[in-house]
Amino acid sequence: MQSEITSEKVRSALRQVKFPHSKDNIVDDGDVSGIVIKDGHIGFSIEIDPALANQSDELRRKAEDMVSSLSGVLSATAILTAHKTASTSQPTPRSKPDSHRNPPLKPAKHVIAVASGKGGVGKSTTAINIALAVKQMGLLVGILDADIYGPSLPRLLGTSRKPEYYDKKLVPLDVWGLQTMSIGFLVEPESPTIWRGPMVMSAIEQMLRDVLWTDLDVLVIDLPPGTGDAQLTLCQRASLSGAVIVSTPQDLALIDARKGLNMFRKVDVPILGIIENMSYFICPDCGSRHDVFSTGGAEKEAAKLDVAFLGGIPLDMAIRQTSDAGEPIVATQPENPHSKAYSSIAQKISDSLESQKAEGPAIIIE
Ligand code: ADP
Repeated sequence: MQSEITSEKVRSALRQVKFPHSKDNIVDDGDVSGIVIKDGHIGFSIEIDPALANQSDELRRKAEDMVSSLSGVLSATAILTAHKTASTSQPTPRSKPDSHRNPPLKPAKHVIAVASGKGGVGKSTTAINIALAVKQMGLLVGILDADIYGPSLPRLLGTSRKPEYYDKKLVPLDVWGLQTMSIGFLVEPESPTIWRGPMVMSAIEQMLRDVLWTDLDVLVIDLPPGTGDAQLTLCQRASLSGAVIVSTPQDLALIDARKGLNMFRKVDVPILGIIENMSYFICPDCGSRHDVFSTGGAEKEAAKLDVAFLGGIPLDMAIRQTSDAGEPIVATQPENPHSKAYSSIAQKISDSLESQKAEGPAIIIE
């Protein structure tokens, strides 16, 4: 008979693992958390000091081996997270993304990144509703919350379940008919994590590679806001079909959205278009439309920047409420006019992907 695997057994196996410089093992150092045990598959996270990121892969392998060697364990998977109190204020050296050595990851037929120049513009709300609208077109869709600094998918989806492990991979949570994954499902919401360059890359790489995305037509990736390391890694590691930029009217004319565009252009990722969020406000009392930020110059701006304008989403109470209650409007109120607005954008994205396919590679016959 197989002996039962317990957290204590996992912890005692992990007590045999330590960083070379460290006096104590990773368990007694308080680095291990989030142990999940499911039918012989074990998952856990190890907090790493960002300064030691270069030793992290070896440590991870060792930790997984130790747990795998326990009787009754079918698989062991460690997720690395950054140390809560980074012991160094020195920036860790940037490691170059090594896309030339590793082939790009392609977890779906189409991988689409949703980006914004800065936070708070409604990028995540837009990403989830677009993903749901694409799903309503009859496709298998996943969404990956790559915003490791401030994961919002647990809030937007209204779930804080822990994912299970199968065959050394994380199983995405099935929520509202989407395959979903977020670092927020793995780390405790109240633990502030500080991520440094190489850690970010390793976390994102794992989210693409070590998640059991299954038969996806489309994977929507909700990028962290801005145009830093994480975004660049993704663009280089994932085989992106294209990127969508979410912007509010007032940012569109500003530098933020342009920076995002330029980053994608630099790494040759096609820009599928710009979505203007919080585009206008419909007064709930009188029903009249107000252009709160500026009069819809988005289309003109998009033309100036030579990108497609995919549409505008109003600033609306129903969107905020459903989004913050974890009941995305496209899933819960598909007949709402705002849901239709998301659907129309999803259709344009799909058309744009189709036309990419139709263009195909040029064949030259000599
Ligand atoms: P980001 O991902 O850009 O940081 P979020 O999607 O988390 O932004 O949205 C920030 C806040 O704005 C949330 O409270 C969300 O409910 C709200 N929000 C987003 N889009 C809209 C909209 N079109 N109308 C009203 N509220 C919105």
